[in-house]
Amino acid sequence: MDLSYGEGAETFRREVRSFLKGAWQPGERRKDELKAFIRDFRTKATDAGYLYRAIPKQYGGSEQPADVVKAQVIREEFARARAPMEIGGNGMSMLVPTLLEKGTPEQKDMFIRQTMSGDMMWGQGYSEPATGSDLASVRTRAELVGDEWVINGQKIWTSQGDRATHMFGLFRTEPNASKHGGISYLMLDLNQPGVTRRPIRQMTGEAGFYEFFFDNARTPASWIVGERGDGWNVSRTTLKHERASIGSADALGGTFRKLVELAQEMEIDGQPAIKDAKVRDALTKIEGWVMAHRYSSFRLFSLAAAQEQPGLVGLMMKLLLTETGHEMALLAQELIGDHALIEPASAGTRGRGPEKWLDQIMGTLGNSIAGGTTNIQRNIIAERGLGLPRDLAMEADK
Ligand SMILES: Cc1cc2nc3c(=O)[nH]c(=O)nc-3n(C[C@H](O)[C@H](O)[C@H](O)COP(=O)(O)OP(=O)(O)OC[C@H]3O[C@@H](n4cnc5c(N)ncnc54)[C@H](O)[C@@H]3O)c2cc1C
Repeated sequence: MDLSYGEGAETFRREVRSFLKGAWQPGERRKDELKAFIRDFRTKATDAGYLYRAIPKQYGGSEQPADVVKAQVIREEFARARAPMEIGGNGMSMLVPTLLEKGTPEQKDMFIRQTMSGDMMWGQGYSEPATGSDLASVRTRAELVGDEWVINGQKIWTSQGDRATHMFGLFRTEPNASKHGGISYLMLDLNQPGVTRRPIRQMTGEAGFYEFFFDNARTPASWIVGERGDGWNVSRTTLKHERASIGSADALGGTFRKLVELAQEMEIDGQPAIKDAKVRDALTKIEGWVMAHRYSSFRLFSLAAAQEQPGLVGLMMKLLLTETGHEMALLAQELIGDHALIEPASAGTRGRGPEKWLDQIMGTLGNSIAGGTTNIQRNIIAERGLGLPRDLAMEADK
């Protein structure tokens, strides 16, 4: 199997490397200076065609033809130089691709640049206390009064809700229409009267989620993406990008190497745990899954390079990532023994001893829910990939 990228890609790699050598020299800087330096670096990298490649020039991007091999070379070289890529978050990964596909020219003008600069930070407002997998049952209402939507209801589990300045989400705008047909995709400013945000403390001790309460909150009539009542279809566009970005994450190798180190450090019956037959067996199985994930990501990459659709491989990758991450967490939990009883963040212990694995142990539980639960992913793979009959509950609900 030839895993090289070809001579053209290697020439391009040399170009990227030489650009980084000149443009990315952060050195020792004060925090505010570093921030300004990074902003300036991103602009230079965009002008050179390395960042924001899918975004048209008129909205601040570098508007490059789609080329997955070049994109991969850029990712590898930026990572090697520890240079910042595009600004992260829901805005860039979900809202901007959705606006590029479905937004009006005015919306693209108004939101894309400010999201790229980090001036607008977005929360994803899909979930409500009574909705989750059954996303179409959203109840938070938006009523058109004059030239504004007036919003009442509640959203929950909003990641990065502490920093979010704005929200995109699904709102019920046609109460008398069908379940899927009565929803619109709206954007709104979160810093206004009528919006209350509250943190939700998790079992790690951290408050990464927020819930938002809307009491006659307002947003301009023109801040709707797509047609009124067509929010369900617009949200499919966002989810496609959300799942693609989750599925392509390549985080397993590093965690696996740390797990092996943990097995070398911890002891079972006075011996390094790595010598224990059961531990070795578990590690071997996990390594198999880690390699399956790695080679599947090569497969995804080859499909994309050949301009073929990934099909269900993307969903399988998310499942594999979640399940393998959880297997690693279970083994780590056995290895750290009583250290797992230490209360995480609130005890101020994070990052010191074996208990730092608590993040992995608890975090992997969340990963099996975020962005579509494992059961739902399995249903889709079974129905669309294996051609099994549709879930009876979903059929009844149509
Ligand atoms: C880390 C994390 C980050 C998140 N960030 C956000 C965010 O930023 N914005 C946001 O809006 N939401 C966010 N969420 C919420 C997330 O999208 C929902 O929790 C998720 O969609 C599941 O919904 P639910 O919790 O209501 O579970 P439910 O839908 O009630 O599901 C409960 C269980 O039933 C199963 N189930 C439900 N229906 C079916 C079915 N038809 N077939 C088979 N099994 C089924 C599910 O798989 C699950 O195991 C986040 C969640 C997590 C964990």
